[in-house]
Amino acid sequence: MPTPIYLDGHSTTPLAPEALEAMSPWWHAQAGNPHSPHLTGMLASQAVEDARSDIAFLIGSDPQELVFTSGATEANNIAIRGTAFAAIEGGIKRREIVVSAIEHKSVLSAANSLRTAGFTIIETPVHETGVIDVSALERLVGGQTLLVSVMAVNNEVGSIQPLADVVRIARTCGALVHVDAAQAVGKLPFDSTDFDFVSLSSHKMYGPMGIGGLFVSSAASVRPSPVLFGGGQETGIRPGTVPTPLVVGFGAAAKTSRMQLGGDAAHARALAALFLEELRSRQVQFTESVPEPQRVPGSLSLRFPNNDAMSIIARSGDRIAISEGSACNSGQITASHVLTAMGFTPLEASETVRLYFSRYNSETDAIEAAVALSEIVGR
Ligand code: PMP
Repeated sequence: MPTPIYLDGHSTTPLAPEALEAMSPWWHAQAGNPHSPHLTGMLASQAVEDARSDIAFLIGSDPQELVFTSGATEANNIAIRGTAFAAIEGGIKRREIVVSAIEHKSVLSAANSLRTAGFTIIETPVHETGVIDVSALERLVGGQTLLVSVMAVNNEVGSIQPLADVVRIARTCGALVHVDAAQAVGKLPFDSTDFDFVSLSSHKMYGPMGIGGLFVSSAASVRPSPVLFGGGQETGIRPGTVPTPLVVGFGAAAKTSRMQLGGDAAHARALAALFLEELRSRQVQFTESVPEPQRVPGSLSLRFPNNDAMSIIARSGDRIAISEGSACNSGQITASHVLTAMGFTPLEASETVRLYFSRYNSETDAIEAAVALSEIVGR
């Protein structure tokens, strides 16, 4: 049976061949621990530091400002919980954290977990295009705000957030800024310079799963406390043995992304446009959740009226791999908090799917995916 066309890059991008090749020697049985003092350990440590430099270069940071984590979930937890606890320990009195309503659950849940520690969590609304309401943010951030956390690109609808405005508003009030850039880095030019903390995920940028990073600016007025305690690796912020093969794969993926950033974006944008054109030429009825200039290239969130997303996915499963725009919790389908925040009704949300055209998709994929969907959703 032919494999389905993979269009689920919001969940995880395909692994770059460069990353796979770079990782392979480091799975060797005697590859060693990068924290060991002997030659084998030093070679592993050198490979980790080379990868750290490649990733830091991609986000315009100093390698020493990058801490490896198991992914963006952990990076978000350190940025939010670690900063809150560092504030408590450091005698800082600010007790408000402002997040956007469409953050990933690892940001929202980490922030909400701090209520019991005396923090107030404030959610900034978004417009119907999935972009945060900057004037609302301006009203919500104030002298009590410790941290503002806004993602660079949303993972469900691909909307790009106005980070320059977020920084301007936060700085006016002396608040720290955290950016969950899991869906942006490797897809869009990204410069960490203006932020205090930035979360990264390797498997959203053609690297392996299970590895990510947290940029902690050397200029940040608060350094996050660790959320795990152990051997003091990664400057004490994230103890635990650094996984050399995963880090090396992440580094290779970062290097490839840096070299192909412009080409990748043009390719992904062209495929998404071709796919939409093919759907239209087949008279398929659909609406785009986020208009073109506001979404990351290659990403599409589409609503097919009178078609249930779960049923589209089930019926197209052997031809295309796509995801729904709703979250399935313990078998119960609940409307996605992102689509709800954008003003979708539960019915509209249940009719929405997301697709992502990646570096490794072809024009044939875009056309065949449109053919498959047009046959499933009808006209
Ligand atoms: N933030 C965003 C925006 C994401 O899309 C994801 C992954 N779905 C995460 C955080 C979590 O990343 P990881 O899988 O690396 O923990």
